[in-house]
Amino acid sequence: MENNVMLSVKDLKKYFPTPGGMLHAVDGVTFDIQKGTTLGVVGESGCGKSTLGRVVLHLHNSTGGQIFFEGKDITHVSKAELHELRKQMQIIFQDPFSSIDPRMSVKQLIAEPLQIYKLTKSKEELEKKVKETMDIVGLASRLADSYAHELDGGRRQRIGIGRAIILNPSFIVCDEPVSALDVSIQAQILNLMQDLQEERKLTYIFVTHNLSVVKHISTDIMVMYLGCTVEKANANELFHHQYHPYTKALISAIPHVDPDDDTKRILLKGELTSPINPKNACRFAPRCNYACEKCHCEVPPLEEVAPGHFVACHRVREINGL
Ligand code: SF4
Repeated sequence: MENNVMLSVKDLKKYFPTPGGMLHAVDGVTFDIQKGTTLGVVGESGCGKSTLGRVVLHLHNSTGGQIFFEGKDITHVSKAELHELRKQMQIIFQDPFSSIDPRMSVKQLIAEPLQIYKLTKSKEELEKKVKETMDIVGLASRLADSYAHELDGGRRQRIGIGRAIILNPSFIVCDEPVSALDVSIQAQILNLMQDLQEERKLTYIFVTHNLSVVKHISTDIMVMYLGCTVEKANANELFHHQYHPYTKALISAIPHVDPDDDTKRILLKGELTSPINPKNACRFAPRCNYACEKCHCEVPPLEEVAPGHFVACHRVREINGL
């Protein structure tokens, strides 16, 4: 394994038992993330992207596959190892409000991770560290004694980012961190995250349903559909060439500001396949305009169609004239 790979995931699976059978939330996902880069993970709600981030962080146990962090196999770790690992691997949630204690003030919330890990020797040191972190994430010191419910969404997300970075991690899963925010605030939070990445050489998995949000922050993009990777490439490459019918539909849904851009929106029709005991087929087949017999009885493998550009579609060459 190359030295500059921060996270390597091999054939990762997460199934949940349900009364109707096994729900395949993540089904054989493989990727590497280089240190200091961002992997954007994109797909509709229910595609398994958030579950993927949580399995990587051991917030859910995996059903199968392997996870390597800085070359070390962390697929199965003890409680004590996980406790140590959490210093390095953090998460920023979509709505930090739902993941924090509403009775705690801003300074208490930001101090909490340091207290859990007993990383400061005195009250003064703790206060200094909290103040520094508030500064870094753009929270005015006058807000130190405020409560999250008194703040707007942007400031609440800054608390979430402060809690994530105060332990000085090297890797962060960002789970729809700007989806609940106004567009103008989204840009501020994305800029803050990019600045932090540059300064601290952070590695991100950035999970979102919105491709336009990850366009600028991602180094690579992975598109997921019902637990599987359907397309994966460098972000620039993916925005210039999309080969999978589902990615084409996602890109076509991004509003264009250029009046000369006559890209037509591709509307997806048909039913979503059930993720419970899915059959041996392309999961996108019921909604795909190009589906043929083979698509309904064989899972398409992920194959490299251009350097570093992977697509899972039986008809990818035919559809795209490759
Ligand atoms: Fe469509 Fe078949 Fe390709 Fe699936 S494998 S995306 S159904 S053409």
